[in-house]
Amino acid sequence: MPKILDGTVALVTGASSGIGEATARALAAQGARIALVARRGDRLAALAVEIGNGGTQAVAVEADITDAAQARDAVEKTVVQFGRLDTVVNSAGLMLLGPIVGADASEWRRMLDINVAGLMFVTNAALPHLLRAASGEPRHVADLINISSVAGRFARTGAGAYNASKFAVNAFTESLRQEVTKRQLRVCVIEPGYVETELRSHNRPEIIEQTASALAPHPLQASDIADAIAYVVTRAAHVAINEILIRPTEQER
Ligand code: NDP
Repeated sequence: MPKILDGTVALVTGASSGIGEATARALAAQGARIALVARRGDRLAALAVEIGNGGTQAVAVEADITDAAQARDAVEKTVVQFGRLDTVVNSAGLMLLGPIVGADASEWRRMLDINVAGLMFVTNAALPHLLRAASGEPRHVADLINISSVAGRFARTGAGAYNASKFAVNAFTESLRQEVTKRQLRVCVIEPGYVETELRSHNRPEIIEQTASALAPHPLQASDIADAIAYVVTRAAHVAINEILIRPTEQER
């Protein structure tokens, strides 16, 4: 049976875990061939086999996207492998929480490198290919989706640097949306609340302990965000969903 994304190609960063991994599965289920981008090649290879067994092609592309050359290579390898690029999901990210006073500035650097610069490098390399895909068969539209956060909409004590990185993602996304929307490239920002993934585990143990009580008791699952992304990408060409804020029901802020 034909699927809505048949004939298209999607590149997903952060595909080795969490939201990126779930999104790769969701887009493959709609018929897209998938390039899986992250640093942990073993995980990407296993997911590529799983997606392949489901009847859709996937390729593992090991890359550290904080390096502009590696980000560009990842995009070019995708186009060499599959011949085109219709959808990019920028999910790779890092969340290091803690007060601004007395912060370790090297943590800020790591976060800005991946959440902001990495996302921008991938976007920069992908745009010519997305614009080409948007102007022709099979869909006459293409999609760029950036995973921001509730933290990209509302600042909170203890999340200042993460807030700064995600506010930057929202600003970059909206500016790009205005620039390319008349060329059939849809640009969307997704702002999840708490999703149960590996994301918190990269924090220092004391931060993990201090922030545990604020978490919603029934968090979102990565597949919930993947559903939202699949919804955005599978709309008719004249429908652009530009922003989705999605929280666990019991999350207040
Ligand atoms: P995970 O930690 O599960 O996934 C993060 C992904 O980013 C991993 O696949 C990791 O792969 C990849 N990554 C990290 N650094 C690099 C790098 N330098 N180059 C390439 N890939 C990299 O977290 P989530 O799935 O939860 O996070 C995905 C996005 O969602 C992030 O942008 C996050 O900020 C956002 N988000 C998450 C929320 C949550 O509650 N979980 C809430 C709101 C937003 P590898 O280590 O193999 O490179």
